[in-house]
Amino acid sequence: MSRDPRDRELGMYRKITRRDFMNGVALVVGASIAPPGYLRAQDKGPDVSGRDPLLEQGITPADPRYDPPAQIGLRGNHAGSFEIAHQLRDGAFWDSAGEPENTGEKYDLVIVGGGISGLAAAYFYRRHAGPHARILILENHDDFGGHAKRNEFQVGKRLLLSNGGTQSIDTPGGYSAVAKGLLRELGVDTRRFFKAYDRKLYSNLGTACFFNRETFGDDRLVTGMGTTPWRDFLAKSPLSEIARRDIERVYTEKRDYLPGLSRHEKWARLAKISYSDFLTKLCHVHPDALPFFQTYPADLFGVGIDAISALTCYFEGDDYGSFTYAGFDGMGLGEMGEEEPYIFHFPDGNASIARLLVRSLIPGSVPGQTMEDVVTAHVDYSRLDVEGTRVRIRLNSTAVRVRHVGPLQSSQEVELAYVRDRKLQTLEAKSCVLACYNMMIPHLCPELPEKQQEALHLGVKVPYLYTHVAIRNWTVFQKLGIHQIVAPAGYHTYVALDFPVSLGEYKFPGDPNEPMVLFMMRSPCVPGIPRRDQYRQGRGELYSTHFSVIERNIRDQLQRMLGPAGFDPARDIAAITVNRWAHGYAYEYESLSDPHVPENQRPCAIGRQRFGRISIANSDAAGRAYTDAAIDQAHRAVQEVLRFA
Ligand SMILES: Cc1cc2nc3c(=O)[nH]c(=O)nc-3n(C[C@H](O)[C@H](O)[C@H](O)COP(=O)(O)OP(=O)(O)OC[C@H]3O[C@@H](n4cnc5c(N)ncnc54)[C@H](O)[C@@H]3O)c2cc1C
Repeated sequence: MSRDPRDRELGMYRKITRRDFMNGVALVVGASIAPPGYLRAQDKGPDVSGRDPLLEQGITPADPRYDPPAQIGLRGNHAGSFEIAHQLRDGAFWDSAGEPENTGEKYDLVIVGGGISGLAAAYFYRRHAGPHARILILENHDDFGGHAKRNEFQVGKRLLLSNGGTQSIDTPGGYSAVAKGLLRELGVDTRRFFKAYDRKLYSNLGTACFFNRETFGDDRLVTGMGTTPWRDFLAKSPLSEIARRDIERVYTEKRDYLPGLSRHEKWARLAKISYSDFLTKLCHVHPDALPFFQTYPADLFGVGIDAISALTCYFEGDDYGSFTYAGFDGMGLGEMGEEEPYIFHFPDGNASIARLLVRSLIPGSVPGQTMEDVVTAHVDYSRLDVEGTRVRIRLNSTAVRVRHVGPLQSSQEVELAYVRDRKLQTLEAKSCVLACYNMMIPHLCPELPEKQQEALHLGVKVPYLYTHVAIRNWTVFQKLGIHQIVAPAGYHTYVALDFPVSLGEYKFPGDPNEPMVLFMMRSPCVPGIPRRDQYRQGRGELYSTHFSVIERNIRDQLQRMLGPAGFDPARDIAAITVNRWAHGYAYEYESLSDPHVPENQRPCAIGRQRFGRISIANSDAAGRAYTDAAIDQAHRAVQEVLRFA
C-alpha cells in the first residue's frame, strides 16, 4: 500500500482508528466501540487468509462479542463472503474440494440466501407447512439480511444507526397484497413514519453541486441547486459559458424537441435514445454541458446518462427531491401522478424488516414485540443456529451445489453441499429455495436446462459503494445551508446527511452539534460501453480496490468540498464504513439496452422456472431491485414448493 504526502492532513493515520489488514482489506475500528479482545487481535498485523474478520479472530456467532452491524471498515460483500463462490465460478473449486462430510441433517426446506427474500420464504413456508416444519437458511455473509444490512457507530456516548444497503420501503402503497400483508403481520405500520420522519429538519437546507478540478477545471461547491434560478446558480460554477447557457436554456425554455409527433410516438422515440443523445441531438446542448448531467441516473441505475433512455429519465422525474431532468417540460409527455413521499425509512433501513422476520422465525433471537423496539434491539446471534430448533439460520456458509437425490422425476429430496469454516459438508432436504443471486444459480445447479442457465447469467447485478462516515458534528452543513451535495464527477457522486428518523428509543441527531452519519454513494460505472459490461467492470473495480484507497478518496473529497467552510477530515471524521455491494441491485430491464418482450419471456421469468424440487426466489427473479419484489418472489417460490411437495 502506498502512502500519499497528504495522508497526515487527511487524517489517514490518526490514532483514533486501528487498522487490520486482511487479504488486502483494511478493517478500521473506532477505539470506543471495539471489545478489548478485538483490538488485541487486530494488533497481530497483516493476514492474507481471505476470511471474515470476526471469524479470523475466533469470534463465532456463538460468542457474545459477535456483532456484525458494529463492525466498521469494509462491509457489504466483505472478505470471507465471496471467495468460495468465485472459485466455483472459475471452475477451480471442486478440484481441490475433497470429499464432503455428510452431516446427517435433514430438513423440510433448505433456503440458500438469508436476504429478505430467503427470510420471507422461510416465513411463508412455515405459515403453510406449520410450526413443526424444519427449515434451514444458509447465508454466506457474517450477518443475515442480504442487502438489508445495518451499520452501527458509537461516537462518544451517541449510538448512530444507518442502512448498510437497502434504504427504505419505497412506495409501500404500490406493494402487492402479499408484501403488504407480510409487513402488517410483522407489525410494520407505514403510517407511523409520518411522525417518525422529521420532514422539517432539513426544510431550510438545500442542495449543493461540487464541481471538481479534474473534470471542471476548478474545485467549487455551489449551493442553491434547484432552488435558485439556474442562471444565478450556474454563474457561480466553473462551467464554460456555452455549457452554462445551454443548461439554463434546456431547463427553462419549455420547448417541444419532437414537434409533430403524438405522445406515444414521442415515448417510442425517447425510449430508444439515451438521455445524453437526447440532450445533444434533440435539444442541441453543447457536449461541454454533459459532465454536469452525467451521473443523474446513477442512484437508481448505477450508470450515467449514456446508458439510460431519455424516456426512463422522464419517468424518474425528480432526482434527489430538489431538481428534475432537464428538457421535458415543453414536450407534452403527459402528467406524472402524485408520488408517495420517500419517508418510509427505519433508522437502519430495511434491515429492520430483516430483523423483524428473524424475530418471528426464531423466538428469542431479537428481543421485543414492536416495529419501534426492533430498532435498538440487540440480536442474540447465538440463537440463530441451534440444534433442535425448527428454523435455523447458518451464517458464513456458502452453498456450492444442490442436486436431486436419484432421478429428477421421482426424486424425493435434494442434497445440498456448502462450505463453512473451510469445511465442505452436505445435508438433505425435501425441497430447496434458491434465494441467492441469479448468476450464482447455474454454478450451484449445473443440471439446469441450458436456456435457463443462459437467462440466469443475464441477471448482472449493479455494483455500488454505500459509504457511511460518522462525523463529530454537522455544523458545516448548517453553515452552508445544505443537507446534500451532488458531485457529478466525484469519486462518490452523492453525499447527504442521514435520514432524519426517530423511532422507539432511537433519537436522530437533530442538533448540528451532535455526531451524524453522512451517506456517500459511488457507482463505479465505465461510461461508453454496454450497461451490463459497465456493471461487470465496476464490480471488478470494487473487488480490486484496497480499503485505504477508498478511505483516502473519502477524506480527500470531503476536504475539498467542505474544507473551505471549516470541515477538517482529520479532526471531524470519527469512523468510516464502506458497504461494498459488488453484487448490488437486481438487473432491471430498460428500453435502451433491452429488447421489449412480454413479461413472461424476460430472462428473469425464464430463469426462475422451478426445477424439480428446487425453486428460485430473490429480487433478481423479478428483474426489480426492491424489497416488495424480494417478498413476492419468495411467496411465488414457496407456492411452487408446496404445490410440488
Ligand atoms: C445499496 C442498495 C440499496 C438498496 N435500496 C433499496 C431501497 O431503498 N428500497 C428497496 O425496496 N430496495 C432496495 N434495494 C434492493 C434490495 O436488493 C432489495 O430490496 C432486497 O433487499 C433484496 O433481497 P433479496 O433477498 O432478494 O436479495 P439479497 O439481499 O441480495 O439476498 C440474497 C442473499 O443470498 C446470499 N447468497 C448468494 N449466493 C449464496 C450462496 N451460494 N450461499 C449462501 N448465500 C448466498 C447473498 O450473499 C445475499 O446475502 C437496495 C439494494 C442495494 C444493493
